[in-house]
Amino acid sequence: MNRSTKASASGREALARAENSRGLVLVHGGAGTNAFELQEAAVAGTRRAAALGLARLVELGDSEDACVEAVIAAVRSLEDDPAFNAGRGACMTALGEFEVDAGIMRSRDRQTGAVASVRELANACELARAVMERSDHALLVGDGAQRFGEACGVGRFGRELLWTDKAQQRFEQARSGQTPIDNRADTVGAIAMDRRGHLCALGSTGGVLFKLPGRVGDTPLIGAGFYADATLGAALGTGVGEAIMGRVGCYELLRRAASGVGVQAAAEQLCQEIHRDTGAAVGFIAVGRDGTVGMAHCSAHMSWALAREGHEITGALTVDP
Ligand code: ASP
Repeated sequence: MNRSTKASASGREALARAENSRGLVLVHGGAGTNAFELQEAAVAGTRRAAALGLARLVELGDSEDACVEAVIAAVRSLEDDPAFNAGRGACMTALGEFEVDAGIMRSRDRQTGAVASVRELANACELARAVMERSDHALLVGDGAQRFGEACGVGRFGRELLWTDKAQQRFEQARSGQTPIDNRADTVGAIAMDRRGHLCALGSTGGVLFKLPGRVGDTPLIGAGFYADATLGAALGTGVGEAIMGRVGCYELLRRAASGVGVQAAAEQLCQEIHRDTGAAVGFIAVGRDGTVGMAHCSAHMSWALAREGHEITGALTVDP
């Protein structure tokens, strides 16, 4: 990790420097502990994803679905990047299998779509989007979600599409008790706001290492792991899902922000409270309805990047403040 990247440890300052102009993509690469050898890749991957998301947003201009397309472009790139715990690079369950979760919400009509505990699915973000746009439901799980994906022709399935040496090694270490099963970082998510102020939030994860088969965290749970609303703004949670779920984290953050404190202070408060009460590593990113951005975490690390129209991309791996 080069020093200049780490020197921007206070993501808050970098975020505060950006103007509150609309047309933005804010990305995270997970709150937790980033393995040293993956830290450079986490910074590069989140910056690349934010740039891809913004490029898509600009390309689509005033199209109704510009912010949906933008978050899909950003998260697809993170899911395809083995440095992250989503898609290729996802962590394994206690049985050495892959079960992934994802959730998406757009503000213009509060439509949501999510999938949970889907085996061997490489691009969970696409299937969550299909649930939102092509089903009458908000959340599909397990085999049913897989059947829906196959029927729609959405999603690529196969162990070889997700498997990485990194995931295998971590699984072996966890199984042999060589390392504590702490919360690794690397879950991913993106929030986009278009020029008209429409918002979309999307998160995707392999969950937590060595989880029980069938375990579902906050990522695909509306209000807990993701939320987007025209009056409140948009937020994404990351870290130990069990700690975020009890607070309905994203909704709670946005409710507090809207009551006057703003997204940055609300994110900081909530992270600190959850961490104080549970000891869990947690983090949030958020965009207020006025285009202000917030990012906070109580964890060893969190990677993030912000691409805003007319500005340089900012991004870093921040360390526990
Ligand atoms: N929140 C995710 C979960 O609990 C994991 C993470 O963000 O690292 O499944």
